[in-house]
Amino acid sequence: MDKKPVALVTGGSRGIGAAICWSLAKAGYHVWINYVSNEQSARSVEKEIIDAGGSCELARFDVANREETRSYITARFDAGEVVTALVNNASITRDNLFFFMTDEDWDSVMRTNLDGFYNVTSPTLNAMNRMKIKGRIVTISSYSGVVGNRGQVNYAASKAAVIAASKSLAREVARAGITVNVVAPGFVTTDMTNDVPAELVRNLVPMRRMGTPEEIANVVRFLCSDESSYLTGQVIGVDGGLPS
Ligand code: NAP
Repeated sequence: MDKKPVALVTGGSRGIGAAICWSLAKAGYHVWINYVSNEQSARSVEKEIIDAGGSCELARFDVANREETRSYITARFDAGEVVTALVNNASITRDNLFFFMTDEDWDSVMRTNLDGFYNVTSPTLNAMNRMKIKGRIVTISSYSGVVGNRGQVNYAASKAAVIAASKSLAREVARAGITVNVVAPGFVTTDMTNDVPAELVRNLVPMRRMGTPEEIANVVRFLCSDESSYLTGQVIGVDGGLPS
């Protein structure tokens, strides 16, 4: 039997990342489920995928920690493993009006959301390139990164930065057949949006509801498939019709 292609999903233990792990496992990938602290949740994603006949394993490392991330990823590549699809999904928020934002609010968001993109993508892309893999890199940004949002100067800046980084990288690696795209969700029901009032969503979103993690994962799965082979450098909003 042929070995399954491997997908690495950062922040796969909960919310959108967990749905992406599911979706890619169903599409035939062996999934590395990355997480940083919530082992119980990561284990339950792993168990559900395996119980359903899928293939996956846990991959714990802190994407904000360059050394830890690089040594985890390069050790596996040095052992002959290969990642075909990378989904940069791990992210945090530290929302506050800019006037009240602390250095820690700014730094922790940048370290996880922007440095995390670099820390994971750099060694993964090097390996794809070295092994001549026509890989897929998908990064989860946000509607906030496209239009900005009050109280999210740090988060919106980090999410806009990964869009610019992805568009630039797409142009660098297109000739190697590696595609680099971004998905920008609107409001999606996860731990991250526990505090968002339903009334606000009804008023702002033309579809008058939050999205589900699966609705984001479906688009990511397409971007990780062979069917998206001529699509690169794009930002796909999955947001119920929010105005851009
Ligand atoms: P979530 O429920 O808060 O889950 C965050 C995930 O990221 C968890 O798996 C968490 O791992 C992981 N993570 C956080 N910091 C990490 C680190 N330093 N290293 C490794 N993993 C780390 O988030 P979500 O709502 O599913 O969001 C997923 C993505 O969609 C994010 O990029 C987010 O910005 C984006 N997004 C979400 C929404 C929304 O409405 N939910 C809207 C727009 C964009 P642990 O479980 O170990 O903590």
